[in-house]
Amino acid sequence: MADKYAVIIIGGGPAGLTTALTLASAKGKFPFVEGKRYLVIYGEYSDLDKALLKNVPGIPTGILGKELLKQIREQVNSYENVDLVKGKVVKAEGKKENFKVYLEDGKVFEGENLVLATGFHKFDIEGLNVEVVEHHNSPRPNKVMLKHNNNKVKDGLYVAGLLAGEPTMYASASGSGAKVACDILSEWAGKTVVVHDVPDEG
Ligand SMILES: Cc1cc2nc3c(=O)[nH]c(=O)nc-3n(C[C@H](O)[C@H](O)[C@H](O)COP(=O)(O)OP(=O)(O)OC[C@H]3O[C@@H](n4cnc5c(N)ncnc54)[C@H](O)[C@@H]3O)c2cc1C
Repeated sequence: MADKYAVIIIGGGPAGLTTALTLASAKGKFPFVEGKRYLVIYGEYSDLDKALLKNVPGIPTGILGKELLKQIREQVNSYENVDLVKGKVVKAEGKKENFKVYLEDGKVFEGENLVLATGFHKFDIEGLNVEVVEHHNSPRPNKVMLKHNNNKVKDGLYVAGLLAGEPTMYASASGSGAKVACDILSEWAGKTVVVHDVPDEG
C-alpha cells in the first residue's frame, strides 16, 4: 500500500480534476501543504467525453470535451505532488485522517480526507453511509446527488461537482471542485485561503 495521501479525490471529471489542480498548485505558497500528496482515481467515462464546448470561458470554442479532459489530466499530472490512477472505486470507509478506498482491481489507498466527485448518474460506492437523494438541478430525471452541508458530508468527507447538486455545466462543476479544494486548504490553515498566482515583476 502506498503512503497515506492528504486528499483522495474519487472522480476525474471537471470537478475532481479542478480540486486536484487547486490543491497541487498550493505547493510552495503555504508551509502547511509541504510534503502533502494527492490522489485522483478516475473511471472510464466522464460526461465531458461526450461534449463539444462552445461556452466555457477561456477555452477555445468548439474543443471536444475528451480533448479538453486529456489536456487537464496532463496539466494535473505535471504536478509531482499528484498521482492519477485509473480504476473503479467499489468501496470506501473510515473517517477523517483514516479513510480507506478500495478499487475493483484489488488496489487499496489510504487518505486523510476524501472528495467524492463521481458525477450525477448514480452513486454505488459502498461503505460511506452517505445519503443519496434526487439531483435538484438536473434537466433529466433519475439523477443523483449527495446530501451535504456546504460541500461537507461529514468531517474529512467532501462532495464536488454534479454529485454535489451543481447544474450540469462545465464551469459549475469545475468551480465546485475549486471551492472544495479551498475549503480543505482553509481548514488546514485555520483561516480562509485561496490559491492565486501573479506575474513576476519585470
Ligand atoms: C452530451 C453532453 C454535452 C455537454 N455539453 C456541455 C457544454 O456545451 N457546456 C458545458 O458547460 N457543459 C456541458 N456538458 C456538461 C459537463 O460535461 C458536465 O457538467 C461535467 O462533465 C460534470 O463534471 P463532474 O466532474 O461533476 O462529473 P463527470 O464529468 O461526470 O465526472 C465524473 C468522474 O467520476 C468518475 N467516476 C464515477 N464513478 C466512479 C467510481 N466508482 N470510481 C472511480 N471513478 C468514478 C468518472 O469516471 C469521471 O471521471 C455536457 C455534458 C454532456 C453529457
